[in-house]
Order: sequence, then structure tokens, then C-alpha cells
Amino acid sequence: MATGDMLGWNAMIHKSGAKRAKGGSGALTQALAKRLESDGGKIICDAEVTEISEGPPWKISYRAKDEKTKFEEITAKRVVSACHIHTLFNKLLKNPPDELKKRVARTRVGNGFGMIVRHAVEELPDYGDGPVGPRPGTKDYHTSLQLLCPSMDYLQSSHRDFSFGLPPQKPSVVAMSFSALDPTLAPEGKHVLFTWGQYHPYELSNGEAWDDIREREADKLYDLVCQYAPNMRGEMIDRYIQTPLDIERTLGLLRANVMHLEMSLDQMFMFRPLPELSTYKTPMPGLYLTGASTHPGGGVFAASGYNTAHVILREHS
Ligand SMILES: Cc1cc2nc3c(=O)[nH]c(=O)nc-3n(C[C@H](O)[C@H](O)[C@H](O)COP(=O)(O)OP(=O)(O)OC[C@H]3O[C@@H](n4cnc5c(N)ncnc54)[C@H](O)[C@@H]3O)c2cc1C
Repeated sequence: MATGDMLGWNAMIHKSGAKRAKGGSGALTQALAKRLESDGGKIICDAEVTEISEGPPWKISYRAKDEKTKFEEITAKRVVSACHIHTLFNKLLKNPPDELKKRVARTRVGNGFGMIVRHAVEELPDYGDGPVGPRPGTKDYHTSLQLLCPSMDYLQSSHRDFSFGLPPQKPSVVAMSFSALDPTLAPEGKHVLFTWGQYHPYELSNGEAWDDIREREADKLYDLVCQYAPNMRGEMIDRYIQTPLDIERTLGLLRANVMHLEMSLDQMFMFRPLPELSTYKTPMPGLYLTGASTHPGGGVFAASGYNTAHVILREHS
């Protein structure tokens, strides 16, 4: 499972400690957007890029979501692509070099990670005694992630089913209840409980379809929380389910890989996404790469964006 590579990677990104934006990760993009706009930048949202024609000058065609027939075009000296490398080469670039396109297509995306269910709940899970937490009625452990799985055998069975392309009979769960820390996430007296289910394949081998089994699989995750925290039975107000298929459909994370490409040693560091693309530059002048498809991979920590910006600044200063 390449645990050694991941351990090294985690040690690298958590040098300054794990952090969580108030309001959730979306608060970070909102802050970045405000900064860009205050510097005179313009952001176009709810628009799908349909084609990027080779430059310079590059031509980016896009379609605004609310006006399906209306196409627009932007011309630019430089383009930074932050979407999945397969989306860029298979769908957006008009004339990518043939050999490079084939090599990009061979990079491995894998078969998903898991599914997530975001619950609104009446109270926090009571996992037992522990030091008092930051807000009234909370425990310190509520500010951390809980890996809920009773034993290594259980965890391995969750992964074994995934390896066979099956939804896990006994899923393991990473549970999060950050309203214990951040009052902006839920109304006074209520809480959120996010369950990141481990492990759920994107492509199922048993003939089932994700849209048919979403509720059943989501129930399994909440049931496991209740086994550890019986006070949660009957305390769910509502839930928002994101199956692997939803993660692809709504977020553009192909095959539900939240890291874009598999984080295996042959696709990390100077091999990500490919050795010839690992410096954030492409052979096409003015086209740059960033985001989870590039080093150091996925996660909300902006490292690849920082690196790409420096590459461009160095070239053009
Ligand atoms: C449920 C879940 C939980 C996670 N938990 C954590 C966590 O706790 N900590 C952490 O660090 N990371 C976490 N991650 C991973 C992290 O969110 C991703 O690795 C990260 O968001 C990748 O960012 P990105 O900007 O590189 O790529 P993306 O988020 O994939 O952004 C690319 C964007 O390009 C857009 N796009 C694609 N095609 C087009 C097009 N044609 N036109 C216009 N736009 C297009 C997509 O819609 C998308 O918005 C989680 C991910 C998920 C799904």
C-alpha cells in the first residue's frame, strides 16, 4: 500500500503542524479569491473550460453554466492548468503532442479511496472520558480525527473488500466533529459529524451501481459511529452523501481519487505527474501545471501553487 512513501510525504507537509481553516477549507479559497480581486484580478465562476488552443497567445474557450449556448473566449500569454492532468490532456488541449498525451494517459488514477457522509447531528459523539475541549460540552478529542476500527484485522477486511472492487462489508471510518472547535459550522447547540469511509471503490465489481447503494453504504458508516458512541443513535438530523461517483461528478476528481493520481513512489516527487512535466512546465511555451496532479500531490496546503508561481516569476522577472 506504499505506506512508507506516504509516511515520508506526511512528515514533509506537516512540518508546521496540521491546520484547519475557520469555516472549513472553502474559507481558504474565498480568502484567496478576495486577495486576487483586490489586486485587480477577475474570477469567472460556474463556467466550464471547453477547449485550450495552443499558443502563445493561448485561447481558452469556456461556457458559462447558466447560459449553455453562450461561449466566450479569453486570450492569454500564459495559462496555468490546475485541473486533473488527464482532463487537460484528454479533454481540453486542442493539439497536445501525441507521445506526451499517450504517456499522460498511462499515469495511474486508481480506483477511488472512500466515500464521505456529512451529517448534521443533535449532539457530539461521546467516545468516553477525556480532557475538556475548547467549547462548552466538548472534549479535547473532538478536535482530532478518530479512526474507528476495532482491530487491524477489521481494517484489513475493509481494505480487502476494496481490493476486490466491493463496497466494504465492514467499513472503517475516520470521524470528524469540528463544530466542537468551530462554532460557524452548526447552529448553536447542534453539531456536524463527517464520516470519511474507508475504503470504497469507484468501480464496483459486483454489478451494483453507486446511485442504488448510496443510502445503504452511508448507513453502515453512521452505524459504526453508534457502536463507539451509542449516544448518537437517533441523533442524526440530516446527511449529505458523497459516494465515489458523486466525488467524480461534482468535483471533477476522476475515479474519485482525491489526490488526482495515485500517490505511489513512481508517481511522486520528481516523477509527478511524469518526469518531463515535474517542473510545473510543459513543452508548450506558456502552459504551466499546478494542483494535485503535480508535486507534492493532493491536499489543501497550496504547495504546488506556490511552486508553480515561483517557476513563472523566475522565468519572467
Ligand atoms: C471528501 C474529501 C475529503 C478530503 N479531505 C482532505 C483533508 O482533510 N485534508 C486535505 O489536505 N485534503 C483533503 N482532501 C483532498 C483535497 O481536497 C484535494 O486533494 C484538493 O482539493 C486538490 O486540489 P486541487 O486544486 O489540486 O484540485 P481539484 O480540487 O481537483 O480542483 C480542480 C478544479 O478544476 C475544476 N475543473 C476541472 N475541469 C474543468 C473545466 N473543464 N472547466 C473549469 N473547471 C474545471 C474542477 O471542478 C475543480 O474545481 C479531501 C478530498 C475530498 C473529496
